[in-house]
Amino acid sequence: MSEMSDNSTANTGSSREKINLLGLSHAAMATLLERLGEKPYRAVQVMKWLHHRMVDDPACMTDISKKLRQHFSENMCIAEPEVIEEKHSVDGTRAWLMRSTSGGAFETVFIPEENRGTLCVSSQVGCALDCQFCATGKQGFEGNLSAAEIIGQLRLAIRRLAEDFPEKGRQVTNVVFMGMGEPLLNFDEVTTAINVMMDDLGYGISKRKVTVSTAGMVPAIYRLAECTDASLALSLHAPDDELRSRLMPVNRKYPLSEVLKAVNDYAATLGEKRTITIEYTLIDGVNDQPSHAAGLARLLANTPCKINLIPFNPFPGSEFRRPANIAVRAFQDRLIRAGYSATVRTTRGEDISASCGQLVGKVKDRTSRQKKYGLDGEQLIAVSR
Ligand code: SAH
Repeated sequence: MSEMSDNSTANTGSSREKINLLGLSHAAMATLLERLGEKPYRAVQVMKWLHHRMVDDPACMTDISKKLRQHFSENMCIAEPEVIEEKHSVDGTRAWLMRSTSGGAFETVFIPEENRGTLCVSSQVGCALDCQFCATGKQGFEGNLSAAEIIGQLRLAIRRLAEDFPEKGRQVTNVVFMGMGEPLLNFDEVTTAINVMMDDLGYGISKRKVTVSTAGMVPAIYRLAECTDASLALSLHAPDDELRSRLMPVNRKYPLSEVLKAVNDYAATLGEKRTITIEYTLIDGVNDQPSHAAGLARLLANTPCKINLIPFNPFPGSEFRRPANIAVRAFQDRLIRAGYSATVRTTRGEDISASCGQLVGKVKDRTSRQKKYGLDGEQLIAVSR
């Protein structure tokens, strides 16, 4: 964008302490401006500059006072996360490896489909939950992302896709919090980011098209219902407590009965016949047997939902295997015969390791990681901003 000025200072050490304007909701922006002696309605103009016109330099905000522009320039910043790598898959999927202000790396993935484009955003660097089948979990927890860093992922993806496909219009139609991290363990930043995503002054994405995916943080699910009406997905992965606790240690704290009650209560607050999504990663010989399908059908009898089956995506060092396609279909058929809507998630971005659960945003020793992951020869584009 020609009107964008050089923002090379935006990610410098000094700007890290500055408030990043991208992370402010409309209400927070209005409060900030009021404190600065401005009329709160000015927030509308500033939000549009930030999220619609996507300027990176406050000097471009020509309909606000010089004084305010100067204040923004000196004391605040407008900064998307720094991009370390941008990867393109042969199937159109894109992944960005980004650096957080705390230094750790995280990933964002864009998945184009026929009638929609889904952006899978990260909420944390690493993850504390240690689900046994997840590469991010194996990396451990490194820190939370700020609301600005979460919104920055969306803004960056929209901008980069518009640069490369100017004729297509906006391609990101859906956002899912299925990147790195447990969104409900970074509650305030995630809910602020959701607010900006759904706000017409932000990105105007409908509540049905923003999905929070959780491993089942029960108290936070109740809190979520109080501050948003975004869609909810629950990572279930097992039909009983014994197996789920083995696969997902968080189940020892919040067992199935409590988790299912919480998501049902959440769905009830949404009304309008909206249901939750149940995610179920199928792992060969672990949770993909006919008895597991039958158990799942029984367990979910009172939970209006659609079930999304995710064939396990292998990663180096994992003991698990992906079931054969025929086993995946058989599992799906059993659920359908039991009356459920059950879909199988197609694996996308496999050649760039961008599939569910494969996101490990390590920058350290990246070269050997690429070798290890067989990424040699992929189209790797270093983005210089
Ligand atoms: N913490 C959130 C977001 C996690 S990632 C949650 O638990 O929902 C999004 C989905 O990918 C989750 O359902 C997660 O369990 C699943 N997943 C993780 N690792 C996977 C793997 N290796 N293969 C397939 N799905 C995986």
